[in-house]
Amino acid sequence: MAIATVNPATGETLKTFDALNPGEVEDRLVRAEQAYQEHRTTTFAYRRELLLAAADLLDADRETIARTMTTEMGKPLAQARAEAKKCAKTMRWYAHHAEKLLADEYPDPADVTDSGAARVVVRYRPIGTVLAVMPWNFPLWQVVRFAAPALMAGNTGLLKHASNVPQTALYIEELFRRAGYPEGCFQTLLIGSGAVEDILRDPRVAAATLTGSEPAGRSVASIAGDEVKKTVLELGGSDPYVVLPSADLEKAAATAVTARVQNNGQSCIAAKRFIVHADVYDAFAARFTERMAALSVGDPMDENTDVGPLASEQGRSDLEELVDDAVHQGAAALCGGRRPPDRHAGWFYEPTVLSGITPTMRIHHEEAFGPVATLYRVADIDEAVSVANDSPFGLSSNAWTRDPDEQDRLSRDLQAGGVYFNGMTASHPGFPFGGAKRSGYGRELSGHGIREFCNMTTVWYG
Ligand code: NDP
Repeated sequence: MAIATVNPATGETLKTFDALNPGEVEDRLVRAEQAYQEHRTTTFAYRRELLLAAADLLDADRETIARTMTTEMGKPLAQARAEAKKCAKTMRWYAHHAEKLLADEYPDPADVTDSGAARVVVRYRPIGTVLAVMPWNFPLWQVVRFAAPALMAGNTGLLKHASNVPQTALYIEELFRRAGYPEGCFQTLLIGSGAVEDILRDPRVAAATLTGSEPAGRSVASIAGDEVKKTVLELGGSDPYVVLPSADLEKAAATAVTARVQNNGQSCIAAKRFIVHADVYDAFAARFTERMAALSVGDPMDENTDVGPLASEQGRSDLEELVDDAVHQGAAALCGGRRPPDRHAGWFYEPTVLSGITPTMRIHHEEAFGPVATLYRVADIDEAVSVANDSPFGLSSNAWTRDPDEQDRLSRDLQAGGVYFNGMTASHPGFPFGGAKRSGYGRELSGHGIREFCNMTTVWYG
């Protein structure tokens, strides 16, 4: 895949970049290692000042970087601004919380005595240089939620970003440099995915984190496994959105639309499968479909646009194939199901609601990465749980019910890394984020996220 900025709203190639050659990659590995040896010994106070400086710069750059993201991957401009704002907030969150999250721990005195020690301390030390392989869908956020905790922990970072967001990737490196980070602390590698293996096998790289598709995750995890290096994987999702009779239907339908089409439908934690109790199915389906059909699809730079183009031509044809397969097998498109007839350039697709889904359809068990929702009618909560869990994925889940017993049941039984009641899944720096099943493993954000890439060390004093 060429490293290039191609505007998905027009299909026009705006800028191309040469991949780094092996010598240039080697220079960056040398710098990362040198920077790590220095950075790992610095204080939390020093790291905090650097990250706060980066957050301030990012706030000041918000409009520019938002426009770059929208140009490169097509998200509506207001959502790009919101993404930049959330990144600055997360940087500040880690700047202020990291020291407490990584504070020394003291085991139970009875265990200390039992071990024959005078004193035992558990220290969270950094792990080294971490390679981040990141996707284009939240081109700033996916990187920041890795970089902020990694840098606060004393690690250094190497970013292999998706090939279609090179300008955002270069901006992030530049941001950290302008904030005062020493050379080598955070570097962007403009490389294709074929160059990842050698870097991952290099002894100067300690661990890797990947957000993206299952094949990419499998490849990186198996190479890292072969090298006995730690990985965190955040892969796809096909999150259920369960609606039970006690739900506020108006709110549930309005939130369902945002949960499905945020980021032009290209979000791992987007609700994708809408599983509705028979008592409220018709009323929910009517409200949801009406709102989906009313969305405005168009230029993502236009403030009135709700849904922009898909990020790539390939992404749109993958989505079309899923919809066409379902329709050929008997699903009904209650709205959408096609490209907007009035848009001849760019990779647009109409917001779509499909009903009559059966398990033989690909969309039942594959991720629909675009503004396409599937509707399921279920008889009761048992069937809702069974349909919700009938997926290889387990990233997050959403459920609308005001009944505490049903909430208890669903938070026990839904197979996912999150259960969000009467709202939609959204990440927050204070809560762990990650999945079960084929959605990956390990956690990002919160104390759990920062400790993933630490060497938890038992220090025993005789
Ligand atoms: P990919 O998984 O191919 O891309 C994500 C990142 O992984 C990119 O940096 C990519 O580099 C890199 N990559 C791809 N293959 C390898 C490999 N074998 N070894 C090392 N790195 C690799 O996602 P796509 O953009 O192709 O999207 C395909 C599907 O993946 C989507 O339709 C969606 O289902 C899922 N996806 C999920 C995301 C999520 O947030 N969970 C995000 C993006 C995609 P390069 O760009 O150079 O190929």
